Amino acid sequence: MSSFRTLNDADVKDKRVLVRVDLNVPTENGKVTDATRLERIVPTIKEIADKGGKVILLSHFGRPKGRDAKDSLRPVAAALATELGRDVAFAEDCIGPQADSAVAKMKAGDVLCLENTRFHKEEEKNNPAFVAALAKLGDIYVNDAFSAAHRAHASTEGLAHKLPAYAGRAMQRELEHLSAALEKPKRPVAAIVGGAKVSTKLELLSNLIEKVDALIIGGGMANTFLHAQGVNIGKSLAEKDMAGTAREILTKAESKNCAIILPVDAVVAYHFEANAPSHAYGLDAIPHDGMILDVGPQSIERIKAAIDDAATLVWNGPLGAFELRPFDHATVVIARYVAEHTKAKKLISVAGGGDTVAALNAAHVGHALTYVSTAGGAFLEWMEGKPLPGVEALRVK
Ligand code: AMP
Repeated sequence: MSSFRTLNDADVKDKRVLVRVDLNVPTENGKVTDATRLERIVPTIKEIADKGGKVILLSHFGRPKGRDAKDSLRPVAAALATELGRDVAFAEDCIGPQADSAVAKMKAGDVLCLENTRFHKEEEKNNPAFVAALAKLGDIYVNDAFSAAHRAHASTEGLAHKLPAYAGRAMQRELEHLSAALEKPKRPVAAIVGGAKVSTKLELLSNLIEKVDALIIGGGMANTFLHAQGVNIGKSLAEKDMAGTAREILTKAESKNCAIILPVDAVVAYHFEANAPSHAYGLDAIPHDGMILDVGPQSIERIKAAIDDAATLVWNGPLGAFELRPFDHATVVIARYVAEHTKAKKLISVAGGGDTVAALNAAHVGHALTYVSTAGGAFLEWMEGKPLPGVEALRVK
């Protein structure tokens, strides 16, 4: 990863280090309900503090319109202190006199969390005066928030141009794994794309066709492809107006030598609800009043065979309506298969996106893949092949 400066290159001793983290964690009544994002930034914070740096944390939280007590970072800073096993001081503002005096009080090794950057509308506008006000508080900038890197905001992008900028350890891990999956992958590369709609994943499909050797399509979006090929899909979720686009994707895939693996059978029910009676059908026999809610058993075998052939796998989106049992079946079986192959060192596996992470966790294999990105929007934009402003700003020119 020679194109990014990391903490290996930073001299942090006695420096004020502005660290952009993602403290935008889920909370309920002021309590953090999932600390995954906090766990991931602990190594960066400890490393800087242990090397004698002053750690000044910057983050957004929620989508406040101006200052709003319910979007204060104070309770998250407290949860982070527990996670770190160290004190985390808090300042009521991220710029101005309160931030200045809190920073001035810091000693080497201290950790300070500044209030929600989005309490200032200038944050999302990447306003130069706001960037300058933040920059005044630090000597060095470290970005450890990959999940916010698709935004060109003051704390995610602007600051990297104002101060010497480095990738934190969580950012570094994310970039290394994502690069190993799509930029310089071990071939053959397969991708699984599932989920509800083709329309929300058009750019992702187009980019993957250029980069992968086999593209496995499942979920509701597979219905649109099957319909485009003349298969009767009954009352299944599909975007019939996207049939032309689906055919274009198939043609493009052929010209790029990317094998497209679509379902060859389907699990059909008559109600979109858990435990609805269901049955597997071949594609020539889908009932007119039925709904495809999962890929069928023969499709599962084909997907397994495609995974057997792959050295690298990228995954976004469930293969069926996984929130409703038993229509999580294919997703769970394939998740376990991917986990086994990864464990046996036959496969490098990278997955991401909100529903995908939930599906992997439901299959109890969240920790068994090579890397699972919790980044949501940033992960999808990366899969679409888009440059992420927060990452680009860190690149060594
Ligand atoms: P996405 O956010 O695009 O990844 O879509 C995830 C959603 O797609 C989940 O809520 C799944 O329940 C839904 N989904 C996947 N397959 C199907 C299907 N065959 N029919 C209806 N919904 C589906």
